[in-house]
Amino acid sequence: MRWENLTDDRVEHGRAPDAALFGAEAVTTRTFDTPEFRGVTFHEIRARSIVNRVPGASRMPFEWTVNPYRGCTHACVYCFARNTHRYLDLDTGLGFDSQIVVKVNAPELLRRHLASRRWSGDHIAMGTNVDCYQRAEGRYRLMPGIIEALRDHANPFSILTKGTLILRDLDLLRQAAEVTDVGISVSVGFVDQELWRTVEPGTPAPERRLDVVRALTDAGIGCGVLMAPVIPFLGDRPEQLRATVREIARAGATSVTPLVLHLRPGAREWFMTWLAQHHPHLVRRYERLYAEGAYAPKWYQRRLTRQVHELAEEYGIGPSRPGLPRRLRVPEQSPAPDPAAPTQLTLL
Ligand code: SF4
Repeated sequence: MRWENLTDDRVEHGRAPDAALFGAEAVTTRTFDTPEFRGVTFHEIRARSIVNRVPGASRMPFEWTVNPYRGCTHACVYCFARNTHRYLDLDTGLGFDSQIVVKVNAPELLRRHLASRRWSGDHIAMGTNVDCYQRAEGRYRLMPGIIEALRDHANPFSILTKGTLILRDLDLLRQAAEVTDVGISVSVGFVDQELWRTVEPGTPAPERRLDVVRALTDAGIGCGVLMAPVIPFLGDRPEQLRATVREIARAGATSVTPLVLHLRPGAREWFMTWLAQHHPHLVRRYERLYAEGAYAPKWYQRRLTRQVHELAEEYGIGPSRPGLPRRLRVPEQSPAPDPAAPTQLTLL
């Protein structure tokens, strides 16, 4: 593994690093013999920086990110952050799911960064690369210190997650929301149980994630849903879309933003292998739909977006009261992305 690459934000956004940021002596490798972490290896590092700038060419609606982990035990087959493991000389398939890098000093680094006179208090987005509330967070507890630092500096932030563990930090989130702009989004692309078990095997069930939406809304923080990814031919039937939007509405989401599956290098190979095993009859259709690259065609994206927006209107999804915090918004996907362009959301 190329440990010197681990904390470089240029790696976060898909470019090769040019400087060693820390040495191999900074790494402690651990395994825990509990059912929850069986087969998972944790690589603890002391990072040199934690606030990463999103390169100017990015289409993302935020400029700064914090990512305390690399790799994700949620193990979504389609996760396009997989490719970032390649920069560490780690496997982008099972390795991404089971070799987890933990930046153990993330809270103290962030607190120092926020106190710097050079920091102007911009919005910080979390959950943009891998899930900051993946299972590892239950053991390492990095997010409480991170949220406390943001709260103490009244620094606006957003979190995108599939992890129910976020409810552990509900009080802290509430405290932060009293002093700054806090936006929480939960990712639920579908509520189909069979699809969930096979394509997102390490994640909490969709209904548990919707419980998170309900709890955050009840707590007065409010929560949007990133309906992502909508998986062509497996999760896009009208009745599936309706069931998903209906459950999102029942959970009290303040917004729903659909996003069609995209298959960037790294994720594409892993997903197509999975598809060939589980749905071999769809392989040709996928090759045609994604013939132009990582994104489904614009006509498909537009149709899907229109369907979801119509359903959202029918079910009355929207802000229930004025003054709710800012939501994470996702721009329309490009049909012809630059393969060297910075990463987007990982469809958490
Ligand atoms: S899509 Fe999100 S939750 Fe799933 S493996 Fe990737 S980072 Fe983790």
